This record gives sequence, C-alpha cells and structure tokens, in this order.
Amino acid sequence: MEVIVGIDLGTTNSEIAVIKDGRPEVIPVDGELIMPSCVGIDRNGSLIVGRPAKNQMVSNPESTILSIKRKMGQDTKVRLGDKDLTPEEVSALILKKLKAEADAYLGEEVKKAVITVPAYFDDSQRKATKNAGALAGLEVMRIINEPTAAALAYDSKLEENQTILVYDLGGGTFDVSLVTVENGVVEVKASHGDTHLGGDDFDNLLMEHVARIFRRQHGVDLLADLRSRNRLWSAVEKAKRELSDMPYVSIKEEFIHGDHHLDVEASKSEYEAMITPLLKKTIHSVHQCLKDANLLPRDIDKIILVGGATRTPLVAKILQNEVGVEPRHEISPDLIVAMGAAIQGGVIGGVETDSVLVDITPYTFGTSAVDFRKGDFCEDVFVPIIKRNTPLPVTKAEVFATLFDGQESVDVRIYQGEKPIASENIFIGNFIINGLSDVPAGNQIVLKLHLDLDGVLEVTAEEKRTGLSKTVRMDTGKPGSVFDLQKARKNIAALLNEEELAQQGKSVEGESREGLVGEAKELRKRAEKIMDIIDETDAYELQALIKQTKDAIAGGDIERVAELNESLSDMLFYLED
Ligand code: AMP
Repeated sequence: MEVIVGIDLGTTNSEIAVIKDGRPEVIPVDGELIMPSCVGIDRNGSLIVGRPAKNQMVSNPESTILSIKRKMGQDTKVRLGDKDLTPEEVSALILKKLKAEADAYLGEEVKKAVITVPAYFDDSQRKATKNAGALAGLEVMRIINEPTAAALAYDSKLEENQTILVYDLGGGTFDVSLVTVENGVVEVKASHGDTHLGGDDFDNLLMEHVARIFRRQHGVDLLADLRSRNRLWSAVEKAKRELSDMPYVSIKEEFIHGDHHLDVEASKSEYEAMITPLLKKTIHSVHQCLKDANLLPRDIDKIILVGGATRTPLVAKILQNEVGVEPRHEISPDLIVAMGAAIQGGVIGGVETDSVLVDITPYTFGTSAVDFRKGDFCEDVFVPIIKRNTPLPVTKAEVFATLFDGQESVDVRIYQGEKPIASENIFIGNFIINGLSDVPAGNQIVLKLHLDLDGVLEVTAEEKRTGLSKTVRMDTGKPGSVFDLQKARKNIAALLNEEELAQQGKSVEGESREGLVGEAKELRKRAEKIMDIIDETDAYELQALIKQTKDAIAGGDIERVAELNESLSDMLFYLED
C-alpha cells in the first residue's frame, strides 16, 4: 500500500509522521522529532534547512528565514542569498527536507502527504500550502485543519458525537478552535486567536525580569548588548521549561557581560504571576470562540492541548477553572498535529489506523500537608504533585515550608488518589527527613517525585537552604499503564453486544452460569451508563473489572465471574450516587 505521510507545517517548527503497525510514528529529522521551520544559506553559499539554519540565525540573520508561514498566501517575496523567493517556494524547501528524511527513514520514496493548516487559513493560504507541497514533489492528498488533526490523534475514528475545544499555544502564535463531531461529520465551528502571542512572549517577560535584577546587581543592561541578550534568552528559555516541572530554577551564565556572571533564581510562583495577564488574553479568546460558535462552556466535552507552551501547568489550570473540563495533555503537544495528519493519511490510504497510545499514570501522586484556609489550619490536605494522565517517565517537584520555629524534621507521606483529604487516598509510604536547620518556621523543603514506567516512585525531600536531602524509592504497585478511555468505552460497547454475550453464555453450561452471565451483562450496562460522568481513575478500575469478567466468562471460570460480579456491584454502588 502506498505511504501517505502527515505533515505539520508550523510557524516555528515542523514535524512529519507516518502510520506504522497501525499507529502514528513521528519520523526524526537530523535526529530530532521536531525540525525548526527555518531555511538559510550558510557561509559557503549552501542551502541549509531546519536545525542548522536555526543555529546560524544569530550569527547570520540576513541569510536566514524564519516564520515563513505567516506570509503564506501573500503576493510577496523574501530574499535568500542572491535570490528572491515566494513563501510557497520557501515552504517547499522545508517540505523537501521533511520528505527527504522520510524517504531515507522508510527506505522508499514518499510521494503523497496530508498537510495541516490553522483553521483560520483562508483559501489562498490553503492553496499556497498545496502549491508548496507540489513544488516539493508531494501530491497533497488533503489539507486538514490543525485542530481536527489534534482531535484525530486522541480518537482516530471520531465516531462519537462531541464538542472539542482545541487550545493551541506555540512559540509565536495562539489559536483556539471549537470542533464538533456530529454523526461522523467533523467541523471547525469557530476559531479565534492572536497570531503574535506565544511562548516567546513568556521568554521576554522572564528576560526582562532577570535583566532588571542583573541591572540592580551589576549596573549593566543585558538587553542592550546583542550577544548578552542572546545568551540571556537561551538561559531564560531553558529555565522557563524547567519551571513547568520545578518550583525554582537557577539561571546561571558565566561571563555573560565582561567579568560579570549571571546567577539569578526565579520561582514558579513569580513566573506564573508574570504570564497570567497573557493567559487571561487567551481565555478571552476562548470565550469569544464559544460565543462565535453559539456554545457555552458546559457544552464542551473535551479540551485538547496543542503547542509547546501548553506544557506550562498554569495553562491547564486556568482552562480547567474556566471551562470545568480537565484538559487532555497526554499526547506530546508538539507532535500531536503531525500524528493526527498521519492518521488522516492512513485513513485515505485505507490503512487500519488507531489513536496515539501513550504510557501515562492513571493515578495522581502527592503528599499530605497542613494548609491555611479561610483563617483556619486544615490538616491532612492532599497536595497533588504528579497528576493523573501525565506521560511517563516524569519528574515533578513542589515546595513546602516548615510549620514551627526550629523544626528539626518533616514526615514525608505519599498518597495516590484524587480525594482532597490525603488520608482518604491510598497510602503509598512515608519517611522522615531529620537534621533540618534551626531556623524560624517557613524553612523551605522541596519535594521531588519521579515516577518511572514500572510504577517505581522515587521521592526526594530537600532542605532548600542547605541541600540536605533524603531519597526513598517506593513501589506504587501499579505499573504505568496505558489507558485509553475511548477504547474502554468501545470495549464496553462491544461487551454489550447481545450476540457476543449470547455466544459467551452458550459456552458456559448450566442454569446458574446463565444467571451469572446475565448478571454480568446487567452490571456492564450500569457501568456503561456512568462511564462518561465518573473520573478517569474510577473508569479505569471499572474497565479492568469488566475486562477480567469477560476473560473469566470466556475461560469458563464461573466462580471468578461470581466474585467479579460482586466487586463490580460494590463499585457501582459507590459510583452511581
Ligand atoms: P511550538 O511552536 O509548538 O513548537 O512551541 C514552542 C514553544 O513552546 C516555545 O516557546 C518553547 O519555549 C515552549 N516550550 C517547549 N517546552 C516547554 C515546556 N516544557 N514548558 C514551557 N514551555 C515550553
């Protein structure tokens, strides 16, 4: 069968993916899954595309082209070396590079592609994208909207009627779209955004903040000098990524200006305060988009995060507060669009394709703490650190403070679950860190959790001021599992299929066996009814029980069916309220 690749031709970065063994796989370009959408001419006069072109951006800006996507569809030319090129031609160079890498990776020439564009692209921009594909030697089988591709990555069939909000925050652009699926018809109902808002603006804010501190310390303006400014930017961009997982970050650069070294600490809380006004702007767009589509927040079934900057945890937090739906972020926000395009390519090519599968933790892990709420101390408060549905392996940290003056030790207690009261969750383990400094209350302790694919949790508590630390490994007993809610629903639907059940019933002899199989069927029906409204952890457990029941029926183990019916019935008793 002929290969049809999926291409996300992005403003800052581009990716190419293909269906392999029924699932989308991203093809590496120069050893990386993400290729900068950058074209240049190097000092020897040779054409360079991707990472090498991005690398010469600072030293050779006049021979480097960035963000050509912004010009697609315009009757304009950009200069590269001694030539003037149309936006289509520059995009074709990017596509050509992606194609060449895919040809080499697959060992055959790729001739057909699905390319994605923003939902707001008009006809001329779409046509320009198609022309760029043709210039690169690709037959563009379809141009699809980026939000539609993102929705396909989570659910390759998109059969269920639903309304999906796709929130896409990249390096330099932001857009939000509402995608509806009705009787198999997928439609972008509305789209809104800001073509000049993204992670780069977050970098600028953090850069100004650090530069201000440096100016106070050394009387030098790092932003005034191009070389120092570039070094500051790359340090700050790295720090910004770390702040997605850590409560603090040290931003260090030796000899950043003359004899001066940069050594500034930034906290997640101050960084979040800086970017909140920008995120509020994006929320304004979300509401505008809902208004344009004539929808209310409660109409949204699913939120999908796209674009590297959505790795900033505050994005999901603010969205959840506004819309009341927990955003999906399991699939890499940088790769999701290319993977969705590959799924579309697979469908067009008649290849059996499935959604993207990721290793995630279906449970939240966190600790117990004392919190001061509404003028009162609340003990036993659960503070989530690694949230459910986070891809594995993962490392996340939060900062806590001692309660008493001269507090020598802290009892670190780790729980798994979703309940706000720590002790109502599953206790995983604890340890005591002793020998803390004799200082007033408020001594900061950084708690770091690392969860691997085998379900082993490594917990480190560190006194921030001294670096005194203790690490303990805990077995969570639950290996990182791959949970696909969509699939769970389908499995249940399949289990409810009368014929299949009758078939299974027949293989089990005797009156009581028929009765137990019938009971299992009733229980599954009840489970199906609540599957959409319970949280994913419960859904996961319910699904596991149903799967075991199915296996027990198929294996004729009727005692086990009886046992499992009882467990299912108990669980439903609690969940159905
Ligand atoms: P994109 O245009 O989708 O490739 O997104 C690029 C933007 O995502 C840049 O501003 C990156 O700095 C930002 N980004 C990438 N990884 C992270 C992260 N872990 N946390 C916060 N921002 C990130």
